[in-house]
Amino acid sequence: MHECPHCKHLTITSLRKLCATPLTPALCPRCHGFSYLEMVHLLRAMIVWSLLTWVFIGIALYQRMAIYLLGSVPALLFAVDKFMLAPPLRAIVLPK
Ligand SMILES: [Zn+2]
Repeated sequence: MHECPHCKHLTITSLRKLCATPLTPALCPRCHGFSYLEMVHLLRAMIVWSLLTWVFIGIALYQRMAIYLLGSVPALLFAVDKFMLAPPLRAIVLPK
């Protein structure tokens, strides 16, 4: 669970956080506040995943073993965990 930027309680699930965009924000079940993950975090995760995947492609070509290409899967998990799940959600403050 992840912290809601409005009430500071751990109410947002990981899947909901990953899917939270400004158009489809995450709704906190406790305080009913909207929040989203900034797109820059998605870009950072994609860049890190791409770079790590190219490293594994290089290793696979050098070693002549395609099994090293499977390293792309843990690289994706690492990039999503480090660059999308770790940063905080941004609150959407609606005018009253
Ligand atoms: Zn909340």
